[in-house]
Amino acid sequence: MEMSEAKLDGNAIAGLLREIFTMEMTTSETTCAGCGSVSVVGRVDVYLNAPGVVVRCPSCEQVLMRIVHGRGRYWLDLRGTRCLEFVAPD
Ligand SMILES: [Zn+2]
Repeated sequence: MEMSEAKLDGNAIAGLLREIFTMEMTTSETTCAGCGSVSVVGRVDVYLNAPGVVVRCPSCEQVLMRIVHGRGRYWLDLRGTRCLEFVAPD
């Protein structure tokens, strides 16, 4: 994962994350960190492996995301995603 020049803590993206997770996710586009292909999230490969979800690149099968939900929390591993692109709300 690329590091930015200025190191900020999670509070810096709290508002951003709140926006993202109230938005329609399936129309966003994810860029695979492995092969560079861009996929609409609604078209990626998803595996429901309890207790989590594994999302894979439809082109090269690299893991794009791991999402675990439990004990009142979410864990989101995006190391396989180079970029997530969303359409801004009106
Ligand atoms: Zn890929």
